[in-house]
Amino acid sequence: MKGRLEKPVYVTRPSMPDYNEYVERIRPLWDSHILTNMAEYHQQLEQELCRYLQTDRISLMTNGHMALEMALQSQGLSGEVITTPFTFISTTHAIVRNNLTPVFCDINEKDLTIDVSKIEALISKRTCAIVPVHIYGRICDVEKIEEIAKRHGLKVIYDAAHAFGVTYKGKPAACYGDMSILSFHATKVFNTVEGGAVIYHNEEDGKELYSLKNFGIRSEEYIDGVGANAKMDELRAIMGLCNLRNVEREITRRKVLFEAYIEGLKDIPGITLPFVQKDVKTNYAYFPVLFDKEILGVGRDVIYEELKKRNVYTRKYFYPLVNDTKCYGNIYSVKGTPVAEKAAASVLTLPIYADLETETVSCICAYIREIIGQGEKR
Ligand SMILES: *Cc1c(COP(=O)(O)O)cnc(C)c1O
Repeated sequence: MKGRLEKPVYVTRPSMPDYNEYVERIRPLWDSHILTNMAEYHQQLEQELCRYLQTDRISLMTNGHMALEMALQSQGLSGEVITTPFTFISTTHAIVRNNLTPVFCDINEKDLTIDVSKIEALISKRTCAIVPVHIYGRICDVEKIEEIAKRHGLKVIYDAAHAFGVTYKGKPAACYGDMSILSFHATKVFNTVEGGAVIYHNEEDGKELYSLKNFGIRSEEYIDGVGANAKMDELRAIMGLCNLRNVEREITRRKVLFEAYIEGLKDIPGITLPFVQKDVKTNYAYFPVLFDKEILGVGRDVIYEELKKRNVYTRKYFYPLVNDTKCYGNIYSVKGTPVAEKAAASVLTLPIYADLETETVSCICAYIREIIGQGEKR
């Protein structure tokens, strides 16, 4: 093993289709000159995604963030929304940009999704919805959340940006809740360069989403909603059609790397490795590791910096916590979220993507052992 990787390795690397295949598939656009506005390839990608994700209803969007904004807006919500602070900032931004007030609920120690035992204490007269996140593709306690939402008459909109293709008890994760949103950003398991979608469950919601993503225009001369422009164009829809053909291979390859990491880092006291939840078929979207400074004597930030010196660029997903950021830290009343704080202080996501070599994973594991002084125990 060399002291440093020859080429930098980043936490992810977008999958791309075969160049000639893409060029071949976009050629018809040069004849039709139809580039956007829910045209042929937009519709085709919606259909193929429905098939792949085992769902009947999906609305493509320009990105995952706008998918969440549109989903929230379509439900006509006002008041407070219970959500997790351990997520990408987009989740909270979408809530706030809908004039809703986020109320941060702590996460559970086991899988770092929202702690369902703490939700009800946060419900007030103003609560209108719960926005949980299937963080790292881990499925929230969907049954318990449904039960709470029913009891209190709340909407549930899942941020499933990480959960593309994940199933729970054989059913797609996105069939839970009133709606779920997906992200097809370049860094996600399935990408359309930029892109996203809302999975919904009834025709009325579909009509609302269709109108909202197109400026609130119902028909040429009838505009009844304060919409946005959240449409996906034809070039990106075609990128999606190409990438969708390879997504199974992408996930299979990620599984191999996931298991190589587990093998390389197992049985180290102070290191908590990711795991696949019971009854879940996962997509291996991320490889988040928790480093306990108390036990290891070396903190997450040192490991992050030391890996960088060895050309390994990990990410602190998700640090800082949303309720500790400059834009939200002092605005909303935050009851303590100690479990989320601890996770944010100790987490590092390691590189995982289809093109990553298994040998590189072995090197990264060896570097980590070296940094924490566990090298010789192999
Ligand atoms: C990526 C992501 C988003 C936003 O999706 P974009 O497609 O980048 O707009 C929202 N929530 C979470 C948890 C994400 O990881």
